[in-house]
Amino acid sequence: MDSKPSTLVAIWDQALPLLQKEFDDDQAFATFLGESYIDHIDGGEVFVVVNSSVAETVLQQAKYQSMVNEVLQRITESNFVAHFITADKLSAYHTEKEPEKPQYFADSVLNPNYTFKNFVTGPSNREAFQAALIASQQPGKLYNPILIYGDSGLGKTHLLHAIGNAAKEKYPKMRVLYVHAQEFLDEYIKYVKGDKEGASIVDWFKNSVDMLLVDDVQFLSNKKATEETFFSIYNNFYQNGKQIVLTSDQHPSKLNGLDDRLKSRFVQGLPLSIHAPEMETCVNILKTRIQANNLNIEDFDPAALEFLARRFGKNVRELEGAFDRLLFYTINIHPVKHVDLETAMRSVSGLVDVKEDEEKLSEQKIINTVADYYNLAPYQIQGNVRTSQIAMARHISMYLIRDLMDVPFQKIGRYFGGKDHATVMNGVNKVEKSLKTDTALAQAVNELKERLKK
Ligand code: ADP
Ligand code: MG
Repeated sequence: MDSKPSTLVAIWDQALPLLQKEFDDDQAFATFLGESYIDHIDGGEVFVVVNSSVAETVLQQAKYQSMVNEVLQRITESNFVAHFITADKLSAYHTEKEPEKPQYFADSVLNPNYTFKNFVTGPSNREAFQAALIASQQPGKLYNPILIYGDSGLGKTHLLHAIGNAAKEKYPKMRVLYVHAQEFLDEYIKYVKGDKEGASIVDWFKNSVDMLLVDDVQFLSNKKATEETFFSIYNNFYQNGKQIVLTSDQHPSKLNGLDDRLKSRFVQGLPLSIHAPEMETCVNILKTRIQANNLNIEDFDPAALEFLARRFGKNVRELEGAFDRLLFYTINIHPVKHVDLETAMRSVSGLVDVKEDEEKLSEQKIINTVADYYNLAPYQIQGNVRTSQIAMARHISMYLIRDLMDVPFQKIGRYFGGKDHATVMNGVNKVEKSLKTDTALAQAVNELKERLKK
């Protein structure tokens, strides 16, 4: 619909006489709709300005509302919903709707999904988490600057946003800016090219930002002019006790190509490392994810979660990806009520070669090696199918785990869909007994032990 001022005037000029007829009380018509006009049309909504808040209230009543809507429909042959509003309220509405955009980093926002509450802590990230929490509650006081470094996918970006979100919750007026170092570079280039009018970028930071969160500072390496500017901004924040938190993929002393002055500043701050989460932390991350999806933790075998943790835990992003894949699989492809190890392994079989597991001896490595030897998939050995060949491979796996790793029967059971102590013991005993008489089996077990030494 064309909403040029002239069109709006034309529509209302036609509507008013029709409405006057409908009203059948000229006095009332003049009181409520005298001096009214259409201010604008937004989608299917027509905003009509009226001259008093009484008129506003009266006209919002269903009776008048549908009267006006019908008249508009007759004139325009489209369906519109009329809103009545006084000029004062309308101007307040306009200013609320379009806050002035800042001169720099206008698109920068904090991601509300990254909070301290949904960050799972463990020995691998506790220090970084604590420092981040303190920075958000007492900005610029205790630790400033803070630099969190570590490999990709371990929660650095999550922590930066969490700091920003928590600081804004505690200090609603605080102007927090989250920027990725790449965005800083882009904005700096626009500034140098003269695309930005008004304050210099350094002054803008000085006057418009209270807390600065810069992600992946390694991106500034070998960008001399940008580093220079960043250095000025950094010093200004530091001297004025404004909180700065940075992240990078390495300890600052190892950030090759970064200006030495910046490097030494970063080292003087508080560099804190973040590592790959331990098994327990990984499982807790998965449990939080299960809860966040409104699913029941009881429906997931511990062995299934441990499998994902062991296989993908070096990178939480990948761990989450594998878990999403598992959900997709169990909902869309192979619906199950209970998620066991076999299901977990199948669901991610496209993501990794589940046969290749860690170098060092582990229950999974033994199972994978046995599976390979008998041309089976690990999930077949770990599942419940009882053909004689699979059952035998299963018993041999149990036997080898017991023999080589001395793992309690019950714990071994976990790797085989939660089999109990007695079942595992029987399997192991059967193999031990047969070994004495069955030379082919003895040969196979020896060969498997040889392969496991590699
Ligand atoms: P980085 O910035 O270190 O590469 P991210 O912060 O982007 O890593 O984290 C990758 C994903 O893993 C994000 O979805 C994040 O929410 C999640 N994540 C990482 N660590 C944790 C944790 N300890 N608890 C909960 N989620 C985490
Ligand atoms: Mg990141």
